[in-house]
Amino acid sequence: MGSKNERIFLSPPHLGAAEQLYVAEAFDTNWIAPVGPHITRFEEEVADYAGIGGAVAVTSGTAAIHLALRVIGVKRGDTVFCSSFTFVASSNPILYEGGTPVFIDSEPESWNMSPAALKRAFLQAEEQGTIPKAVVVVNLYGQSADMDEIKAICDQYQVPIVEDAAESLGATYKGKASGTIGKFGIYSFNGNKIITTSNGGMIVSEDLAALDKIRFWSTQAKDGSEHYQHSEVGYNYRMSNILAGIGRGQLMVLDDRVDARRNVFKRYEEAFSGLNGIEWMPESLFGRSTRWLTALTIDPTIIKSSPEQLIAALNNENIEARRLWKPMHLQPLYQQYEYFPHIENESLSDKLFETGLCLPSGSNLTPHQQNRVIDCLLREIRN
Ligand SMILES: *Cc1c(COP(=O)(O)O)cnc(C)c1O
Repeated sequence: MGSKNERIFLSPPHLGAAEQLYVAEAFDTNWIAPVGPHITRFEEEVADYAGIGGAVAVTSGTAAIHLALRVIGVKRGDTVFCSSFTFVASSNPILYEGGTPVFIDSEPESWNMSPAALKRAFLQAEEQGTIPKAVVVVNLYGQSADMDEIKAICDQYQVPIVEDAAESLGATYKGKASGTIGKFGIYSFNGNKIITTSNGGMIVSEDLAALDKIRFWSTQAKDGSEHYQHSEVGYNYRMSNILAGIGRGQLMVLDDRVDARRNVFKRYEEAFSGLNGIEWMPESLFGRSTRWLTALTIDPTIIKSSPEQLIAALNNENIEARRLWKPMHLQPLYQQYEYFPHIENESLSDKLFETGLCLPSGSNLTPHQQNRVIDCLLREIRN
């Protein structure tokens, strides 16, 4: 296939210069196991980058959320509040522990958790005696939720926050690193995230004792004895030393990746500035987004093509685009659980899902490739 029709991916990996050296070092020193010097260094470097006390490296962002909920003590029958507008990995760990999720809508300023909906959910929980054990707040598409507002509400009820920053590593909230405001923050290094270890995750916190417990569980909960003795259920969730080597190299270029993704967004914004009917995901005043994915909604009264039609037109030219996340309260898996919309009887996340899409946003997207995306969309929209 000629380069003209080369596939353009939504968010492909983008390696830097140091990853192979770190991986080679892991081979040379035979640290191929889920133990070794890169893991500890990667944890320290991520904690330094985020400006937080400590970090534990695990096999995925999903595992990170699971262990955070476990250390908080979520048990069978406990309620856990969670953003509805997200990827399913934010809420599945609630089910792993037998918890009952309650989903909270987004607000228009950041597309993340609505403090108004959260407040109503807490008021009802208080009446019913079902105050949640934890609140999972998601920072979507590279942007932080309004954490001060959300934290004030959660603090009032003394409920800890798990900040799902899987998509927002490198973003800030009022100058602080995204993922450092909740009791626990989690990052993902999956292949489509802003930096990747192919598969991987991290839990960050100021609570070093809780992080020690998480590290213990992530390596099968081995009691400190010579023989294999276990008193608690553990998991095989530890990151490998090879992948941590990749992560160390990726972390060195994270700020470049943020700049590149923001520039991709800026080019889209400029290219479509003369066009009515497109609204970009807003960047709220309280933080700096990484623009991990360029996300937009279209006004169906102005633009005749639906998100599906635009995605199909792009796909015809070998370009990958996606709908926005289908909210959890609309998922068959979660349909029996309660949901609190931003405004009573008016769900914002439903509307975002119906009218939105995300465009190829890789930090290695070339201007030529981006022009292909832009030209194809303009042709489709103007037809
Ligand atoms: C990717 C992602 C996760 C899960 O991370 P994995 O490393 O893929 O397990 C969790 N939450 C959100 C919002 C994500 O986008």
